[in-house]
Amino acid sequence: MASPWIDPAQPDAAWESAAPPRLVAWALERFRHQRMVLTTSFGMEGCALIDMVAGHGVPLDVVYLDTMFLFPETYALRDRMAARYPHLAFVNRGTTLEPEAQAEQYGAELWRHDPDRCCAIRKVEPMQSALAGADVWLTGLMRIQSPSRSALPVVTWDWQYQVLKVSPLASWDRARVWDYVQRHGVPYNPLHERGYPTVGCTHCTAPVAGSVPGEYSRAGRWSGTSKTECGLHYTAQGTIERKV
Ligand code: SF4
Repeated sequence: MASPWIDPAQPDAAWESAAPPRLVAWALERFRHQRMVLTTSFGMEGCALIDMVAGHGVPLDVVYLDTMFLFPETYALRDRMAARYPHLAFVNRGTTLEPEAQAEQYGAELWRHDPDRCCAIRKVEPMQSALAGADVWLTGLMRIQSPSRSALPVVTWDWQYQVLKVSPLASWDRARVWDYVQRHGVPYNPLHERGYPTVGCTHCTAPVAGSVPGEYSRAGRWSGTSKTECGLHYTAQGTIERKV
């Protein structure tokens, strides 16, 4: 099933590398009558995207999934973002399954013996609920983030959630995001300056030696395993799960 909203004449090379602020402006106008949801894990890319959206003054839900395993710095960043952008609603659509209940049902430290199941419970299933009824999903994905994301179109139909996925930052890299964040005074997670290129759950995120905020890397996520993705956008092995 193809999305009815993609103009086939539009996605050319220039379009796919257009400046993210321009693509954000286009998306907010193009889909102003659709139900749009912006999701974030409060990584640097997501914070930049939120800032670009906020500049348009459009009231929008910014959905995040509190896995209950986030770093204290991430919760503090959420509060700073909410204070800076009061017209945006920061909405937690994370799991209600308490860690203790998860341990009782699935065994202790599920993230160690079955991280895919843990991510399914604490990320993928809540995201399915969060996107139910949404028409358009704004994400901070970039092509350089991983081989599985390298062909990411700015606009694509997401087969897993049956929603139109728009990724305005697709053509950028971390250096450009870092430059944007600094020039616009966008809040970001201080862990990026303490060796964490990306910040996820405490159990599955480790610092990376030599890491600097202006360089993206997924090293440090699920270290010592073959898992590269949480399953929100691609399978744990980096493929696209196609459902019809
Ligand atoms: S990143 Fe780790 S702790 Fe977080 S949901 Fe996935 S497996 Fe569980």
